[in-house]
Amino acid sequence: MKQILMIATGGTIASKSSAAGLKPLITSDELLSYVPDARQFCHADTLQLLNIDSTNMQPFHWLKIAAAIEENYETYDGFVICHGTDTMAYTAAALSYLIQNSRKPIVITGAQKPIDLEITDAKTNLMDSLRFASHEQAYGVTLVFDGKVIAGTRAKKERTKSYNAFSSINFPYIATIQDQHVIFYLDDKKLLTKPVHFYNKLNDRVALLKLIPSMEAGVLTYLAGSYDALILEAFGVGGLPSYESGDFHKAIDLWTSAGKTVVMATQVTNEGSNMSVYEVGKTIKQEFDLLEAYDMTLEATVTKLMWILGQTSDPREIRNLFYQTINRDILYTAKW
Ligand code: ASP
Repeated sequence: MKQILMIATGGTIASKSSAAGLKPLITSDELLSYVPDARQFCHADTLQLLNIDSTNMQPFHWLKIAAAIEENYETYDGFVICHGTDTMAYTAAALSYLIQNSRKPIVITGAQKPIDLEITDAKTNLMDSLRFASHEQAYGVTLVFDGKVIAGTRAKKERTKSYNAFSSINFPYIATIQDQHVIFYLDDKKLLTKPVHFYNKLNDRVALLKLIPSMEAGVLTYLAGSYDALILEAFGVGGLPSYESGDFHKAIDLWTSAGKTVVMATQVTNEGSNMSVYEVGKTIKQEFDLLEAYDMTLEATVTKLMWILGQTSDPREIRNLFYQTINRDILYTAKW
């Protein structure tokens, strides 16, 4: 029988009503008591690591979760992390960088409704996660929600209320879970040959800025005072405005000549960026040493930069690591 460690961090799944609104109060042991049938296929222990709304989740919490998994890695066959849905995609991506090449499954889940309600998705999601974490073919960091298994770097919360809150962006689902069966669409555990690698450093001085028509370049200049990396969410396949009042070229020059990292990304959810299509993008890319997010999600781009900048400040190394595919995060790269 598989030995699973269920780590509770809070979120709606563990929430109860209070006068001030839903608040995480249900303990990890109570959570597990709602899915007694899981005993048929696994033995689960619990660890109450945090009990917070995931709105309050920060990079040091991701390090704490990764450290808890590292401490218990030899003892268990798989891990299930119960988490709030609001920042779950960030945590799933962050853990994908902090724990690489894991043969053991590390599953993140949560729910749109608390587990103690009569009508809730929480029991299904927790049961599915324990089932997936106990599966021989499962590995690496994934997010399990509403019967879908999503690579940790490809998840995005796209619905605030419905049970099908998460989508896999620019990548297929890894598996689905239907009628107590896991159906794998991607069954490639045998390709994993490297040993598991835990990292314990992140640099959280990463900013994300969404362009809007009328934005002034001064915002970029201002951010350079506090951050080491800037991700610009451009329009469409990517580009920078060139109107007079916004001297974006000068602002980008300020960032790159200070040795800071600038990544161009798109604010369109699906299909990714390609800065070389239009003049507004191509000229910027030719002029400056910029990185491009291509098909990566914004959540993966943010956390990958935090992970990379936690390891190095050398621009060449930053570029190499950024374009390296980790837990299926990027397929379309600058090498193409
Ligand atoms: N605000 C909650 C959280 O992210 C929402 C949820 O869990 O669904 O913790």
